[in-house]
Amino acid sequence: MVDIGVNLTNSRFDKDREDVILRARAAGVKELLITGTNVLESRQALALAQQHQALYSTAGVHPHDADGVSDDYLEQLKQICLDENVSAVGECGLDFNRNFSTPENQQRVFQEQLVLASELQKPVFLHQRDAFPTWKGIIDEHLAKLHGGVSHCFTGTLAELKQVLDMGFYIGITGWICDPKRGQELYDIVRYIPLDRLLIETDAPYLTPKNIRPRPKSSRNEPSYLPFVADTLAIAMGIDKKQLITQTTNNARQLFQWV
Ligand SMILES: [Zn+2]
Repeated sequence: MVDIGVNLTNSRFDKDREDVILRARAAGVKELLITGTNVLESRQALALAQQHQALYSTAGVHPHDADGVSDDYLEQLKQICLDENVSAVGECGLDFNRNFSTPENQQRVFQEQLVLASELQKPVFLHQRDAFPTWKGIIDEHLAKLHGGVSHCFTGTLAELKQVLDMGFYIGITGWICDPKRGQELYDIVRYIPLDRLLIETDAPYLTPKNIRPRPKSSRNEPSYLPFVADTLAIAMGIDKKQLITQTTNNARQLFQWV
């Protein structure tokens, strides 16, 4: 299995980061893609990838961090991206859910990263929440030059799902689908995702799957819980879990060019 969304630089992993990686491996989660959410964390994510086999990283600025970028952040991201362990530009996108950064800054920083990804010919690791029309509008302007990508932690509607697929992106499914309350709509629409466009992720330490038994003592999510996402997703799609794992593993290796 491949977990394409692990926020392993998060301080909630400071005490046992190495154990978290070992537990993931023991659970059959071999490759991890470590998410970079700003310049500093992208650097830290890359350092982890350099230190561990089968760990890769992304480099980008999350929309929440758009207000805080320096004048030369793009140049810094570019330098980080030159390392072969960096497999995607991001996470980048728009989040109008809580607007931790102004919508104007979010849009500017998002556009600039799309240009960077085109220039570097790397896939994009996309975030979107409560901003679909604006997000799609910006991507559409750059789509012809982009080199693919994933709409990570997809939680949108069926209409949005179809548009993201039409744009050619992969769809990242998290433990959101394991939440019978918030995740019902997602559960009902995942069967519309073609198997060759599907990726799985934990988004750890966030979004702990609600179907873990026995229930973990900590609320912190970690990549070793990825099989619980795969379980629910396979049932929702009406497919064999082994087939789902093989296909999503191949998809990740193909998109991020690990083959
Ligand atoms: Zn995200």
